[in-house]
Amino acid sequence: GNLQIAIDGPAGAGKSTIAKKLAERLNITYIDTGAMYRALTYKVLKEKIEINSKDKIIKLAEDTSITLLHEDVYIDGHLVKEEIRSQEVTKHVSYVAQIPEVRKILVDLQRKIAADHSVVMDGRDIGTYVLPNAHIKVFLTASIEERANRRYTELLQKQQQINFTDVINSIKERDKIDTEREFAPLVKAADAIIIDTTGLDVEVVVEKIQQITKN
Ligand code: C5P
Repeated sequence: GNLQIAIDGPAGAGKSTIAKKLAERLNITYIDTGAMYRALTYKVLKEKIEINSKDKIIKLAEDTSITLLHEDVYIDGHLVKEEIRSQEVTKHVSYVAQIPEVRKILVDLQRKIAADHSVVMDGRDIGTYVLPNAHIKVFLTASIEERANRRYTELLQKQQQINFTDVINSIKERDKIDTEREFAPLVKAADAIIIDTTGLDVEVVVEKIQQITKN
């Protein structure tokens, strides 16, 4: 059978960096589910659909093809990369992701990929909802300061205009919506292992999870 490793946690906990490295080491597929919600949100904004027009967003999700190839996301056949990481997309993505019908479409896709490949999948609801029988479940956390600092450093490298307080607030806002939504909210799975990555090196965390995988 295929190996399933679920990595969940709040924004900026280090999920994607760690999940990507772990998948590389294990030579299995890395799936960034956040990128799928971001890609759809990018299209919502591009088509100038109001963020509270639930029905229009559902219709758009039904009419959109999202495909993953290696670590890349394609929307209607077009590769999207940096554009799905913009502050504009980041600000709106949690509103799109709280719509149950939208989630069901993307979750179907995520489960199909996991049925065909061994995966390290990162997101918010992987251990609780997408892959409830995953072999390994990790819930990554870190202090809000550390999470904001990581995001801030990333944005500075991309030379985006930002201040630290805005970054903290935007992370808190996103976590709040992700945690409080009704359908498949962000929560630790009962059988997930918590790793607090505050002050920890990426390599150390990857090694820790890899050790668990060996047992
Ligand atoms: O992981 P990332 O920060 O790129 O995710 C962006 C947003 O997508 C999250 O804040 C959340 O609203 C949504 N998301 C989700 N479920 C997932 C992955 C991401 O709701 N499995």
